Amino acid sequence: MTAPTASVRDLARSLPTGELPAYVYDLGALREHAAAVRSALPGGVELYYAAKANPEPEILTALAPFVDGYEVSSGGELAHVAEVLPGSALAFGGPGKTPAEVAAALARGVRRFHVESEYELRMLAELAAHPPPAPGGGPTTGAGRRVGVLLRFNLPVADGLLESGSLAMGGRPAPFGIDPSRADAAVRLLTDGGCPQLELLGVHAHLASGLAAPELLAVAASVVGWAAELAARHRVELREVNIGGGMLVDYARPDSRFDWAAYGAGLARLTAARRGPLLRVEPGRSLTAYCGWYVTDVLNVKHSHGEEFAVLRGGTHHLRTPAAKGHDQPCAILPVDGWPHPWPRPAGGPGPVTLTGQLCTPKDVLARGVPAPGLRAGDRVAFALAGAYAWNISHHDFLMHPRPTVHFLGS
Ligand SMILES: *Cc1c(COP(=O)(O)O)cnc(C)c1O
Repeated sequence: MTAPTASVRDLARSLPTGELPAYVYDLGALREHAAAVRSALPGGVELYYAAKANPEPEILTALAPFVDGYEVSSGGELAHVAEVLPGSALAFGGPGKTPAEVAAALARGVRRFHVESEYELRMLAELAAHPPPAPGGGPTTGAGRRVGVLLRFNLPVADGLLESGSLAMGGRPAPFGIDPSRADAAVRLLTDGGCPQLELLGVHAHLASGLAAPELLAVAASVVGWAAELAARHRVELREVNIGGGMLVDYARPDSRFDWAAYGAGLARLTAARRGPLLRVEPGRSLTAYCGWYVTDVLNVKHSHGEEFAVLRGGTHHLRTPAAKGHDQPCAILPVDGWPHPWPRPAGGPGPVTLTGQLCTPKDVLARGVPAPGLRAGDRVAFALAGAYAWNISHHDFLMHPRPTVHFLGS
């Protein structure tokens, strides 16, 4: 259980039933959190926001004063962020960039690519050398400027760093990044003079998601050390090392936070130890998860084979996070006293209850074992930590229920 802020609670109680389910984003809380993250990071560490965590224009805009740029992972995200925040710094990542997406990114003036394979490097070189004409025939944005490349590598991760619950993107067979055995070949493609339009800026490694600060610092140290060896081997200077995102959001302990102060201090030690490259982090989940709430109401409470179930309006087709990650979404119960109907009001017993949605599948579970004695139809439930990988990863159209309404507080 976790308590919503007063403004979220007031809105969650006052929304008419017809506006439920609702996504409520507390932009004031988001700004406060992002400011704290920013101030915990030392000089020489840049902060990009991984837009895929939540690309709502209001969220992107609220983050703008606190971030150095945005990491986008598709042509769609790229066009969206460029339209919401024209002129912002963009890094284009993702394992399956199409030629059309790369060409569109070049035409928009994007000059920082996270390249995931030698094939992609060759494609980028060719498209940068022969840029398609700009729409309307004018000069292409950024024409003449070289295209910066960070090579994304799938580096080994020390045994024991990846706890259960963390999501490994690297250090094991994966479609992400360049295998370390091809690192030298990939660097040579950029340093042998064959791709004059491209400039090797540095190294990128996003190896795991869901790590606490000490583990993530250990990963960062090994990435930075590996990059330094690569640079020394090739006698090149690497100006940037992107150590990725993946800061832990602990859904079982919603009031805890990733220890940004310890992480920032560790990164400061890492940058001081070598007169080294600029470091960049690109978190998604840990920036926006806490500002979002999914608010709905109880439609029915029933007993089944000794267990209590509450069926809620909406479900995992709006908030897929607990189904995708296999956790119980933290929530708060907001009791509602009135009952507007002439038929009797369902109510549960004293025991814990499983909160499900309206979908005709046993997988539509938002949380199990919720202590909600006497929960009644008509009571409201506010699910916390719904600001990242929530609405935008959900299968909205399954069963054709209405979409949630969306509300931004503090805009
Ligand atoms: C998804 C992703 C991120 C953000 O990860 P979080 O776990 O949300 O912090 C950062 N970098 C890359 C390359 C990603 O794919």
